[in-house]
Amino acid sequence: MSNFSLTVLGARGSMPIDGKNFVRYGGSTSCYKILADDEEIYLDAGSGIVSANPSPKTRITILLSHMHLDHIIGLPFFVALGQKNRPIDIYAKERSGLSSQDALDRLISPPFWPLKIGAYPANVNFHDLPQEIFKIGEVSIETMDGKHPQGSTIFRLTFGGKSLVYATDFEHTSKSCEKLANFARDCDLLLYDAQYTEDEYKKFRGYGHSTPDEGLKVAELADAKKILFIHHSPCRNDDELDDLERKFSARNKNVTFAKIGDEIFL
Ligand SMILES: [Zn+2]
Ligand SMILES: [Zn+2]
Repeated sequence: MSNFSLTVLGARGSMPIDGKNFVRYGGSTSCYKILADDEEIYLDAGSGIVSANPSPKTRITILLSHMHLDHIIGLPFFVALGQKNRPIDIYAKERSGLSSQDALDRLISPPFWPLKIGAYPANVNFHDLPQEIFKIGEVSIETMDGKHPQGSTIFRLTFGGKSLVYATDFEHTSKSCEKLANFARDCDLLLYDAQYTEDEYKKFRGYGHSTPDEGLKVAELADAKKILFIHHSPCRNDDELDDLERKFSARNKNVTFAKIGDEIFL
């Protein structure tokens, strides 16, 4: 029996937040740990990756959706980078004319940080994401471009006949939703950017995020078995997220809003 699971290490969008009203959902930014037998795959390296505790036996891969700060800010403090010669593969799409390594080196280097990722004790390999389907061990990875300022990558991971789709930093239009629904067709789990309510979205059109209402439409169109809403606004506290979860799970019982520490087995 193969093991395929996802753990929420950070589901906050845009900026970390802290305080007694941000406990259950957590204030750390985007990071999800996937275990697929001996593969340990991190979706994004927001501040959530700082709490990761990688097993010494797994192979580590980090898939970056894009280079916005909230998706990479935890990387310099990822504990495995300090483990001598530990192989770590980092994948991101070449954007704005910068390879994955060049883009990370722009921010994570002096004077903003004392050393570049390549200078850590681990053995880090940078990869530009291939266009076609590729494999990490027995996990198949497919990608799709999301609608987002500077672009974002949406991932579909398939292992042992189960699949999950990570659609963060995605703005809906009728065309982008149809494309995403086709990409996510029949997936077991859809993670969807639900940063805004419908009212908020009117003010933030073009900022590159979506709403739970649109996520439900995509999930239903795609026939996704479960939907996990992610990239919570830093302005939204625990009680407000509970209210949203109650409202949307009444409309579709397969809905939850990601909480820090949640573990989902596929
Ligand atoms: Zn983001
Ligand atoms: Zn972004």
